[in-house]
Amino acid sequence: MTDKQKLADAIAIANIPTLLMVLVQFTGDKRWIEAPYRPKRGSGTGDNDSGGFDDAIQKEIRDAALAAILAWKAGEPLALEAPSDEELVEMLSSSMGEKVPAEYGEMTSAQLGQTPMKWDHKIDVPEGFNVIVIGAGVSGLAAAVNLQAAGIPFTVLERRTNVAGVWQDNRYPGAGVDTPNHLYSFSFAPYDWSAYFALRNELAEYFEYVADEFDLKKSINFETNVISTEYQADSQSWDVKITNADGNEETLNANIVISAAGIFNPPSFPNIKGLESFTGDSWHTAEWPKDKTLEGKRVLMIGNGATAMQLGPEIQNRVESLTIFQRGPHWASPFEQFRTEVPEEIRYLFQEVPLYRMWYRMRLGWTYNDRVYESLQKDPNWEHPERSLNAVNDNHRAYFTSYIKKELGDRADDLMDKVLPTFPPFGKRMLMDNGWYRMLRNPKVSLVDDGIDRIEGNKVITKDGTEHEADVLLISTGFDVLKFLSTYEIIGREGKNLRDVWGDDNASAHLGTNVPGFPNFFTLYGPNLQPGHGGSLVFVCEMQVRYVMNMINNMTTQKLGTVECKQDVHDDYIEKVNTIHDNMVWTHPGVSSYYRNSEGRVVVNSPYRNVDFFKLTRNVDMDDFITEPKKA
Ligand SMILES: Cc1cc2nc3c(=O)[nH]c(=O)nc-3n(C[C@H](O)[C@H](O)[C@H](O)COP(=O)(O)OP(=O)(O)OC[C@H]3O[C@@H](n4cnc5c(N)ncnc54)[C@H](O)[C@@H]3O)c2cc1C
Repeated sequence: MTDKQKLADAIAIANIPTLLMVLVQFTGDKRWIEAPYRPKRGSGTGDNDSGGFDDAIQKEIRDAALAAILAWKAGEPLALEAPSDEELVEMLSSSMGEKVPAEYGEMTSAQLGQTPMKWDHKIDVPEGFNVIVIGAGVSGLAAAVNLQAAGIPFTVLERRTNVAGVWQDNRYPGAGVDTPNHLYSFSFAPYDWSAYFALRNELAEYFEYVADEFDLKKSINFETNVISTEYQADSQSWDVKITNADGNEETLNANIVISAAGIFNPPSFPNIKGLESFTGDSWHTAEWPKDKTLEGKRVLMIGNGATAMQLGPEIQNRVESLTIFQRGPHWASPFEQFRTEVPEEIRYLFQEVPLYRMWYRMRLGWTYNDRVYESLQKDPNWEHPERSLNAVNDNHRAYFTSYIKKELGDRADDLMDKVLPTFPPFGKRMLMDNGWYRMLRNPKVSLVDDGIDRIEGNKVITKDGTEHEADVLLISTGFDVLKFLSTYEIIGREGKNLRDVWGDDNASAHLGTNVPGFPNFFTLYGPNLQPGHGGSLVFVCEMQVRYVMNMINNMTTQKLGTVECKQDVHDDYIEKVNTIHDNMVWTHPGVSSYYRNSEGRVVVNSPYRNVDFFKLTRNVDMDDFITEPKKA
């Protein structure tokens, strides 16, 4: 087949709102963002492939796009190579069928790669300067790629045998992203994804591909467990105590420590009497054994959160029976591309026409990130505050409720009360429906919400006295997310232990990155950074890393030995975070989740839109920091 035919085949099924953006840039003709070529706003999280156009307009757009792309392939330059920020917002608004605020221009440009997120010049650090990065997941890899690009000597310490972090650990059947992977990937490392929502193996392969592509493995010490880090005021550096791959303890030293240790580890186990003594097989979903099978087994699963939602539907037909113990229901949203493969034609188009791929990602960025943010604010005049936050959130409730009812079919009568949350949508982590409600219709599956009293032998006994006997007990209760940085000890200035500062569940950091009393220490995926309103953590990491790179650049040019966040700057920031959260869904009185600590403070989620965090981290305000000149 000729390239022309392959392109024609791809464009025949391509996403129209994305093609329109490509057309604008290839031809420079702005009529493609005006009526009658403005797509209708898509509903939910779908791609809105047709843009709501009739067949005739679709054909016109596809024909024009093919002609423009072929002309470009034949050597014609892009007519609009680098749209201004204003033009980008105008284009994105048209493509989404809704107004995108003007302030999105700069971030759109960065997300499209026009003003790259990745560091693009050398930083002349002093002789002997080096950085230690702890962890080789998404955050650690982002740090490594950028440090390498700046020519800064660094070492990544990773206790596992490979990169990818959570995607190494979580191997349970059905494990995968609930953010589309064309968005859940680095802006500087596009990939030929086989599916729209990749499963764990492909995600692990992607992050390994990044490590190989950027030749990072030579700088990663695998099977190296960090035990502690301790600030050394005399040398303005950190001692990092490790157990190396040979099992020996060693102390390394670095000017800067970037912690990229993640928050979804270690696994958390429920406090149930007799759990340890279960006589059948039992394991946590994050520690899935290679040598066990569920085939034909009676399986009990404790938990019904994000992991369970992926795992349950996947194993339901392999087991003899599956009994799920839920503490409380969750909201789950339908997603039309569940387990959908990217057609070969579209994979070809993504490869051959990078602009198409970039605009496709850009549109996902708007759909999955900030679009829903406004609807998560409490309306003080709303008449149903017990069930929703505002009129839009109430519409979401109605939409999800009718979806659940439809999915439960003839089981709605007996199951609806058990599965319908009383709290507002988005109050806890919003789940993606992997077929959960349909699974509940399966006669093999039971949902129990009576509360577990104890475990005896191979039985889980609920509070109403019912005994549930099983061969396998799956613990799907997630992680102690609130206990940030729990895998190693961090001792800052004057012997201050970070655990004592934060306690078990009250982590706080300026911009989720800087902690007073801990100079030259930056924590990635720190507190108040998770985009709870949706979206991809990967871009958050990139923004944070960019901020840290700017900081290292400033330290070098200003000949600084230390930078340390001022206490009042940190405190003001946290006050602002708390105030914004007071008006958001996660502090709704009916919600308790892993986002909030024992005091009710939201510790995990960001109160900001992506665009706010982008602006907050675009440059470093050195007035926020106490600095010391570099010692000789
Ligand atoms: C099952 C699952 C699904 C998810 N799906 C999504 C999604 O769809 N979208 C999304 O945006 N986010 C998702 N997340 C959140 C996810 O945590 C982030 O997307 C991202 O992977 C975080 O990367 P990280 O590098 O910060 O942390 P991690 O991936 O946790 O990596 C941390 C690394 O540090 C290492 N480490 C920790 N402590 C030490 C130590 N003391 N010494 C040496 N090494 C250490 C760990 O071994 C690990 O490799 C998901 C999380 C899970 C668990």
